[in-house]
Amino acid sequence: MPAERMLASAEEQAIVAMVRDYATAELAPRAARAEADGAFPREAFRELGRLGLLGMPYPEELGGGGQSYELYLQALEELASAWASVAVGVSVHAMSCLPLATAGSAEQRERWLPQLLGGELLGAYCLSEAHAGSDPAAMRARAARDGDGYRIDGAKAWVTHGGEADFYTLFARTGDHRTRGISCFLVPGDADGLSAQPPERKMGLTGSRTSTVDCDGVRVEEQRRVGAEGDGLAIALSALDSGRLGIAAVAVGVAQAALDHSVAYARERETFGQPIIRHQGIAFMLADMAAAVESARATTLEAARRRDRGLPYSRQASIAKLVATDAAMRVTTDAVQVLGGAGYTREFPVERLMREAKVMQIFEGTNQIQRMVIGRQLDAAGAGGR
Ligand SMILES: Cc1cc2nc3c(=O)[nH]c(=O)nc-3n(C[C@H](O)[C@H](O)[C@H](O)COP(=O)(O)OP(=O)(O)OC[C@H]3O[C@@H](n4cnc5c(N)ncnc54)[C@H](O)[C@@H]3O)c2cc1C
Repeated sequence: MPAERMLASAEEQAIVAMVRDYATAELAPRAARAEADGAFPREAFRELGRLGLLGMPYPEELGGGGQSYELYLQALEELASAWASVAVGVSVHAMSCLPLATAGSAEQRERWLPQLLGGELLGAYCLSEAHAGSDPAAMRARAARDGDGYRIDGAKAWVTHGGEADFYTLFARTGDHRTRGISCFLVPGDADGLSAQPPERKMGLTGSRTSTVDCDGVRVEEQRRVGAEGDGLAIALSALDSGRLGIAAVAVGVAQAALDHSVAYARERETFGQPIIRHQGIAFMLADMAAAVESARATTLEAARRRDRGLPYSRQASIAKLVATDAAMRVTTDAVQVLGGAGYTREFPVERLMREAKVMQIFEGTNQIQRMVIGRQLDAAGAGGR
């Protein structure tokens, strides 16, 4: 059953319906096989680009779709219900364009953003390192001044689209100050000295390539530094607020798919002479799953509305990421239970959804880190955190 949405206009309804039709017809049938083979669906991103889905929340004059974040997240959710690796890829791509859009000069934005948002190019976001995940300020990769530009050396770990991306939004040290010694660069995927290690062998999300990207004397001109020297960490964390909303929406989409599969199965499967949905033990489990999906969606879209209105939304983004990804883990685990033995096999998609939900509690800031962000902001804001 498609999610019931309250969209603002007929145009928004048409966009979400188009995304759902595309996801159902083109992505869902390919997902299970590609995930089993660990095949990265590069062509799907070109198709999404042609449909205008890679730059939805960016201004039209810069090559984006001019749509609200609230609408973009609902499109992302529809993609995730069909194929999480693709939806995560769209979210990461959108996030990798954000530093340029928010901190780039007018000249940089005009020069690069239309290409990045146009759909042919795919982006990656390189913040983490092997010893610097939850604590990105511990990063060691260095961008040293070199003539009229920089020379970047170091290894960025866990890069979604590593080795596949056409451009890398990459953070490296330009100084020794822990937090104000980091800068942001836009590095082309074919830069000399940049290479990707073999993909990580992951529990799930296997259609999404994750690799360490090595930089060995990568030369970038000064024009490719985004924002001032030393502003990199603030730029990275601000982009993460938006990215976390993307991951929250992906988690809602995965949870919705698990709920849909569970309801369909429970209406068909009979034990003790009746469909298992008529056993209160299963009906209550499904009811809790539906409540978790709908409350995760509401929390995520409320944060998106704050972003669309220009209100502070960092705490709400962390809450959405925490609530939605924990909900997805719970709902997908319960979906396996509703399907019984069948749920534990690869004949049915729910075990895959459960493996996909797990990583959402980990990347773009683990859920422990989200709690840290929320707690700090409550401390700073005082009673009620308003
Ligand atoms: C599939 C995948 C894709 C990814 N894609 C990207 C990407 O595109 N770009 C990118 O930059 N990174 C990416 N990451 C990296 C991801 O963001 C990190 O894995 C994550 O931030 C956690 O860092 P870590 O793995 O180093 O864990 P650690 O930081 O070592 O944490 C280990 C454990 O300790 C907990 N912990 C750490 N500090 C605290 C604390 N202060 N209080 C309480 N608990 C704490 C954590 O919550 C976690 O449970 C990806 C990761 C994965 C798995």
